[in-house]
Amino acid sequence: MVTFVLISCAFLVVAVMTIKAWWGDGRTDLRRCPRCWYDMSAIDTLKCPECGHAARRTSDMYQRRASKRLFRAGVAGMCMLALAGVYLVIPGPWTNKVPRPLMRIILSIAATPPAPPSAGPGSGLPVPVATLKSSKRSWDRLVWQHQASVAFRAWDDAVHGTQGPITHAELARLVPLADEAHALFAETGGLFATEAWAYDGAIERMVARRTAAAGDADRLLRAEWTLAELQYIGSGYSWRPDFARVPDAIIQQALAHADARVRLFGLDRFGRRAHQVVMEPASPMPIGREIVEAMATGDGDPVVRKRAADLVVYMDGFLPKK
Ligand SMILES: [Zn+2]
Repeated sequence: MVTFVLISCAFLVVAVMTIKAWWGDGRTDLRRCPRCWYDMSAIDTLKCPECGHAARRTSDMYQRRASKRLFRAGVAGMCMLALAGVYLVIPGPWTNKVPRPLMRIILSIAATPPAPPSAGPGSGLPVPVATLKSSKRSWDRLVWQHQASVAFRAWDDAVHGTQGPITHAELARLVPLADEAHALFAETGGLFATEAWAYDGAIERMVARRTAAAGDADRLLRAEWTLAELQYIGSGYSWRPDFARVPDAIIQQALAHADARVRLFGLDRFGRRAHQVVMEPASPMPIGREIVEAMATGDGDPVVRKRAADLVVYMDGFLPKK
């Protein structure tokens, strides 16, 4: 507070000095050289005999005697003092005070990149360094977010890596990435609300991709899926895991997949959608309840069977009868 008062006083003093420098002596009735202020009332030419400067026109010689240098220095000083004042007034660590567009640039240059996927490149998403997230230093926490956004972009790019319908082989390859992206997004829920912004750019990019995909059903489905794993819905963000709305087409394809791992993924996302209906009854019911019921008794894989049976118990208990 004392510092702020001091800065305010200094600002006032500099402001007064700057105005005085700009105003100069205030006289515009004297014929003077505009550069060295030599008295030229008795000289008829535009050229100054003292310093050799030639005024461009007569009116240039009738100016207030102002110090441009002092004026410029004053303006610069006022800007710096104003910035210092704003810096003091904004609460929180320095990373909160630097404007976000500038902070994004600093992050893109100075932040350490995330670790490569544990199973090697191409086999998963980049891994943010976990200790950074809970670091006492606000810069570290921002770096973690930056690393998370690199991972989110990698997820987005993986889903949009090919065009047309998602093949079964592609789905099997994308499912582990979906789980990683989803788990990582759930972790961002632990950030301070005022600091959770550095990965917004990655989500904005997904939203832009979805907007651009309108009219192309395959691309739209891919875009919907990427966003759903990051719990994005409608025009706002949701941080609640029960709000992720993975598209029916993805769930259907996963439930019918030959790979048990992918079928488990389908059951998990189906369960998430069913949970959403329980929490928000206006939500659309996921398609395929009969398929899940059939899997509970008929699936060839015991783990899948068990998971499907659990889901049937949940639906029978909490959802309205068909
Ligand atoms: Zn002169």
